Amino acid sequence: MVSRVIPVEDFDLVIFGGTGDLARRKILPALFRRFQAGQMTPESRIVGAARSEMDSAGYRKDVRAALEEFLDKDRPKAEIDDFLERIDYVAVDATGDGGWDELSKLLRKGVTRAFYFSVAPSLFGALAERLHQHGCAGPKCRIVVEKPFGRDLHSARELNKTLRDHFSENQIYRIDHYLGKETVQNLMAVRFGNVLFEPLWNAHYVDHVQITVAESVGVDGRGAYYDKSGAMRDMVQNHLMQLLCLTAMEPPARFSPDAVRDEKLKVIRALEAVPPADIVRGQYVSKSKGESYLDQVEDPGSRTESFVAMKLQVSNWRWAGTPFYLRTGKRLKARHTEIAVIFKDAPHSIFGQSLGRHRNVLAIRLQPNEGMDLFVTIKEPGPGGMRLVDVPLDMTFADALGPDAADVPDAYERLIMDVIRGDQTLFMRGDEVEAAWAWTDPIIEGWEDTGDRPKTYEVDSTGPEEAAMLLHREGRRWREIAN
Ligand code: NAP
Repeated sequence: MVSRVIPVEDFDLVIFGGTGDLARRKILPALFRRFQAGQMTPESRIVGAARSEMDSAGYRKDVRAALEEFLDKDRPKAEIDDFLERIDYVAVDATGDGGWDELSKLLRKGVTRAFYFSVAPSLFGALAERLHQHGCAGPKCRIVVEKPFGRDLHSARELNKTLRDHFSENQIYRIDHYLGKETVQNLMAVRFGNVLFEPLWNAHYVDHVQITVAESVGVDGRGAYYDKSGAMRDMVQNHLMQLLCLTAMEPPARFSPDAVRDEKLKVIRALEAVPPADIVRGQYVSKSKGESYLDQVEDPGSRTESFVAMKLQVSNWRWAGTPFYLRTGKRLKARHTEIAVIFKDAPHSIFGQSLGRHRNVLAIRLQPNEGMDLFVTIKEPGPGGMRLVDVPLDMTFADALGPDAADVPDAYERLIMDVIRGDQTLFMRGDEVEAAWAWTDPIIEGWEDTGDRPKTYEVDSTGPEEAAMLLHREGRRWREIAN
């Protein structure tokens, strides 16, 4: 199978924070890959912008080094040379006036302009304001805003207001890279492109849903940032909430930005408040020196959670009575992200035994090895009576569609090209982000008010024992966390 590349129009893309970690690790390699795939027109330009004083030649050297470090394969020198010719650099201070005139002169008239805000969120407002002041913004202009989008409802509202003072909602692209993953879009294809699943996708047939985003890494060098955030703000409010919405939403009338985002918003609004008994927070500990969470952050008495598990109820006709269990954490036994839909038992067993142990499960893997497994119950081959066994109908994309299928664009590649195309379907709308914070805030405030202390869990485990109990008490259990 050969992947189909849909060319995008001519563009100028400015990366504010073009010398930073995200630009070097994700944005520039993603752009190079799209260039390699033939998606960038020869006239399209990329401009790096940050305070550091250097010229374009100096920046190109930095970009080359970043590509060599972060592209694992396929980086022929000639192609990198070609790519670098499309790159410029301007020294700009988001909070000052230096460099703006030079930047505005570099931008071409009449072509799509995208400004990627890959800087600290405290600079988003200043950037938006200066883009306007210096005549860089216009109708064909878009801004891309990285997470975190606020740290509570109040700050998210303020940020939305500041951005909307200068740009309309259809020019603001709030990025959540989980939405750019191939499997996430496949979830929609599976749900809404087949007749098989949608009739069963409700409380009558689904026993419960599990969404797991397990990381094996700890806070590492990000301790200072992470300790002010925690798993609830860093992962649940955005990534897990988005996965939940796509799993639980009603079929949109069409696959268009507002139709999809309207349905996601309804899910967030239908979430019931979560009682404290339905949430478990955790913090990792290790017997090895320097490996515990508290060794890696500044505050030795920090109560920030590196793990959250919770039971949610989506209160609408489709999902009444079917719980959604979410969990995410750092330093868990494996890196593993999946959405698993666990269907109910068959209503009657003709085999003289309960079928309870054997259930259909649709497991959608986001990482590693993006793909899907549909577990069906069959007879174990051989003599000796009717013994049942669950086998996966494996839909690993590479096996089903050929090796090229595994070589799908990374989430950033897809999302940046969507910005250029002007497609907001996979970006969060302002009201969605606010609704997610409105649901998250009371939970976090409750912890702060009561001085709640996270339970401890061993590194390389599956999280605190209490998280297992969330399901055990209801006769369920978490799926394995495994590579
Ligand atoms: P970083 O490594 O600290 O880079 C920050 C960038 O901003 C640098 O290029 C810096 O260059 C520039 N900068 C700082 N102050 C500036 C100013 N006043 N005017 C213009 N440029 C300025 O940060 P990062 O990790 O790349 O993160 C960037 C954004 O992405 C943050 O909002 C972060 O939360 C978000 N994010 C990052 C990741 C990640 O994996 N790194 C993941 C998700 C989201 P100079 O010092 O030369 O100005």
